[in-house]
Amino acid sequence: MVARILIAEDHPDSLELMQYLLRAHGYSTATACDGERALALAREEPFDLILCDLQMAKMSGYEVAAQLKAENSPCRAPLIAVTAFSMLGDSEKVLAAGFDAYFSKPIEPERFVTQIETYLPEALRAPAPNQRAGD
Ligand code: MN
Repeated sequence: MVARILIAEDHPDSLELMQYLLRAHGYSTATACDGERALALAREEPFDLILCDLQMAKMSGYEVAAQLKAENSPCRAPLIAVTAFSMLGDSEKVLAAGFDAYFSKPIEPERFVTQIETYLPEALRAPAPNQRAGD
């Protein structure tokens, strides 16, 4: 079984790109375009990993992280912030807010999925492309 990943991002192009890359590698995705929706989805479903933009409408990524930690929800997924390069000075704040890691935007399409996979248990990683067909 491959991982099911929640992507929370309010910028449509960025959301679409992350979703495209993850799906192309065989991952199952759900999307939210604001923080409230992201939190609602994370409460409903035990995702294997959550990617979360920091600056979003209605509820920021910081608030989403704080809520998920505070309510001791069934969500045990690694929580990864995706933030503009200019915000990286805030890395301590990001980790203090409860995120397990952060990636800078713009994402690097060639490396993005590999980077994500380091936060997934091996059993939930998609097979390499050359192992998918046949056998
Ligand atoms: Mn944003």
